[in-house]
Amino acid sequence: MSFHRDTWAEINLDAISHNVKSMKKHIGANVKLIAVVKANAYGHGDFQVAKAAISAGAEQLAVAFLDEAIALRMLGITLPILVLGATRSEDAQLAIEYDLTLTCFSKDWLDDAKQNIRQGQLKLHLKVDTGMGRIGVTKEEELNEILVFLNSNPCFKLLGVYTHFSTADEIETDYFKLQYERFTNMIRLIPDDNIQIHCANSATGLRFPDHAFNAVRFGIAMYGLTPSLDIVDELPFPLEEAFSLHSKLTHVKKVPKGTKVSYGATYEAGDDEWIGTIPIGYADGWIRRLSGSEVLVDGERVPIIGRICMDQLMVKLPSEKPVGTKVTFIGKQGNEFISVDEIAKRLETINYEVTCSITSRVPRLFL
Ligand code: PLP
Repeated sequence: MSFHRDTWAEINLDAISHNVKSMKKHIGANVKLIAVVKANAYGHGDFQVAKAAISAGAEQLAVAFLDEAIALRMLGITLPILVLGATRSEDAQLAIEYDLTLTCFSKDWLDDAKQNIRQGQLKLHLKVDTGMGRIGVTKEEELNEILVFLNSNPCFKLLGVYTHFSTADEIETDYFKLQYERFTNMIRLIPDDNIQIHCANSATGLRFPDHAFNAVRFGIAMYGLTPSLDIVDELPFPLEEAFSLHSKLTHVKKVPKGTKVSYGATYEAGDDEWIGTIPIGYADGWIRRLSGSEVLVDGERVPIIGRICMDQLMVKLPSEKPVGTKVTFIGKQGNEFISVDEIAKRLETINYEVTCSITSRVPRLFL
């Protein structure tokens, strides 16, 4: 892909491969690895990540929306793809045409989907809500009703049953255990032994591989990011971060003491200072709340000064640096490293949100 700007994200596909291979070893040969590549692979690039994950042994893919799945099919991905979110029932036929697996989350949805199937068989995984409170069947009666309905309607093929934990990444495991128990009770109602049963996200798969049934939905840790800082010490193998973000100095100047910098003139040079301008801004996802945070220039941490603009920001340099000097926002330079988690902490959010928030205007380079 060609691009003509000095800001880019590097996606280390070897890191994806390492994380997938390590996880596969950890969960064992009887548990399938479903690579979760929704939201453009958490901002990393879904097609390239999917290919790397598949080469490393991922057996299936999962996305959030039908459009994400269709895009992957159109690029030639042939593996089973599960759509985790709610798909409009009127798009059931489209899912059949692209050989995609949809999530069935209620009897009503199933009734509506049936009305929209003209030919073929719709592959389904049934979602059980054991305490996340999002989509899914909560009651045994509804589950039974769905099983009876599916049995008598050959336009559907039930391939899996799953749930999602809301606290698998927390030290406290009481609620996790409650959800797990509810799930085990629900799946007792499923008569077919060949059905894929899955409940594990990254945190569950990493911490409790014996709770995974026969598949793990591997998302955040595939990208080398810990599901939460609470469980860093419990990780069974080292994760390799795949995402880094870089730019270059486009203008460097020495300004006299008292010079104001950026909108609002909120920053004032306390001395004669070297200021560097960098072509990245909040329209790239480097939002204004990151003013005051640090970036790496020549292996040193330097602060962002003044307000972050839409397309540019300024840093205070320790000395004159040549235009074109590489600037790292996330990643390693020399002995310094800015992790996704460091940015997440600064923004009082989670690492998931950081990589997802780097906008499509930033080209992704795959290494
Ligand atoms: N399964 C479902 C239903 C999800 O919504 C997600 C992510 O949000 C995942 C699996 C992957 O979770 P993680 O990224 O924590 O591995």
